[in-house]
Amino acid sequence: MMITEGSCWKCNEPMKIAFYQKASSTFGPGTFNEHELALARSKGVIIKEQYSKLTNERYLANTCRKCGNFIGDHYLFINYAAPHIVRIYLQKSMKPAFIVINV
Ligand SMILES: [Zn+2]
Repeated sequence: MMITEGSCWKCNEPMKIAFYQKASSTFGPGTFNEHELALARSKGVIIKEQYSKLTNERYLANTCRKCGNFIGDHYLFINYAAPHIVRIYLQKSMKPAFIVINV
């Protein structure tokens, strides 16, 4: 599991985002087990059950503490995980702008 610091797409409030990167796929909190959920929450990630109009289903997602909007799985990789991962590969020797906790 990885936790990155980003900001809410809606209100720009800083927030922590937890996800999994496996092979070339990114998975959100909906795939976490109880232990992983507890761990992410203990690191300050807000994870709540949300309803996705896109997929018409409810699932656990990274949620903004200020406005309550969430990052859908659909947007997790492209907006949050991918830029960060690219940054790691390109700037290994430089201090990353995002803090990632590998747990
Ligand atoms: Zn927000």
